[in-house]
Amino acid sequence: MKRTRNIAILGATGSIGRSTLDVVARHPDRYRIVALTAWRKIDQLADLCSRHGATYACIAEESLGPALERQLRALGAPTRVLAGEAGLIEAAMLPEVDCVMAAIVGGAGLAPTLAAARGGKKLLLANKEALVMAGPVFMDTVRRHGSILLPIDSEHNAVFQCLPPAFLAANFDMAGIRRILLTGSGGPFRSRARSELQHVTPEEACAHPNWVMGKKISVDSATMMNKGLEVIEAHWLFGARSHQIQVVVHPQSVIHSMVEYTDGSVIAQMGNPDMRTPIAQALAFPERIEAGVSSLDLFTTGSLTFEAPDFERFPALRLAYQALEEGGTAPTILNAANEVAVAAFLDHRLSFLHITVVIEETMQAIAATAMRAVEDVVAADAAARNRAAAIVSHLGTHVA
Ligand code: NAD
Ligand code: MG
Repeated sequence: MKRTRNIAILGATGSIGRSTLDVVARHPDRYRIVALTAWRKIDQLADLCSRHGATYACIAEESLGPALERQLRALGAPTRVLAGEAGLIEAAMLPEVDCVMAAIVGGAGLAPTLAAARGGKKLLLANKEALVMAGPVFMDTVRRHGSILLPIDSEHNAVFQCLPPAFLAANFDMAGIRRILLTGSGGPFRSRARSELQHVTPEEACAHPNWVMGKKISVDSATMMNKGLEVIEAHWLFGARSHQIQVVVHPQSVIHSMVEYTDGSVIAQMGNPDMRTPIAQALAFPERIEAGVSSLDLFTTGSLTFEAPDFERFPALRLAYQALEEGGTAPTILNAANEVAVAAFLDHRLSFLHITVVIEETMQAIAATAMRAVEDVVAADAAARNRAAAIVSHLGTHVA
């Protein structure tokens, strides 16, 4: 595999984006930042471009292009400005870029992430929603254009590390694998009764015990939809069927996931919960580089515990398995409804427990269809978002 050198980061101002810049900055001899993108934070984006010497900056909110230009000139940075979705796609496909970090949150990342795959780039995938919503179309694009897809999600990166070399292209059963054990901390409400969750606030939901992340994924961790999305993600990345993916609640977040083989061996990947580890692993693969992550202190950790997931208290997990088994655009509908519901919850327009009600009702209202092309994804996504928004406004008037 060609060594990575020139990097584009989609979603550079976010939690994953900034962790990626931290790892890259530790290795100026190896890596060069070519392009950075953000949604609306022009000050932060201009500052990052100036500090990391980016050749291109892209602001997704198109009307902010001129303001970004002024900001960059004020800093004396020669960075060229791109804007809008076309700009994101251009940034993902630049000929001088050989590696793209896809770290935009949600469905907004689909088009640029697919563009990176079409450009045959080495694709580091954090933006799990893009894979969940477009599974077969996404994987087909990766294969047809010779893109190399490496998982950044800590669980999938862990599974990747526990698999035989170059597994991503191989067959799950043929490789002697029995199951994937996908660990998750259980989120901030792991030990709360469902009745105690009625009035939780976005601030409580975003206070994750082990990880500091963007708001959307933090709420997903609190509902456990994050683990549900990850089950679907594991299906597409590794070819595992739903019964071969077991969610394991592991509150310490030290084991990031495991692979069980037919001979009974279980291989786990461990480390401190710090996203710089999977980022560095994927960036340098198959080599290893310093990531700024401290050693795992097993004596301080003391004990590792495991629990079965509770599908009654966390119905999001049940809905995700259901969508995976239903197939076609069912995961697209699940993901779209979740994005709408989480945004409404963060905006204080929906109660926490109603997030999964919105998803379930949207899945019942919109019939899943076959997924043959990206147009099927876009249509199902739009229909589900419309229906979910209507359900949110209806429920909102009935919430205390
Ligand atoms: P974040 O909210 O911190 O950052 C999101 C980034 O996407 C920002 O740079 C923002 O400018 C950009 N963005 C947001 N909306 C956009 C839009 N409409 N158009 C263009 N750009 C937009 O999120 P994050 O926590 O860094 O997560 C990013 C992705 O990585 C998510 O898909 C998440 O599920 C995944 N992920 C994150 C973590 C983590 O530890 N943070 C771990 C695993 C996976
Ligand atoms: Mg994860």
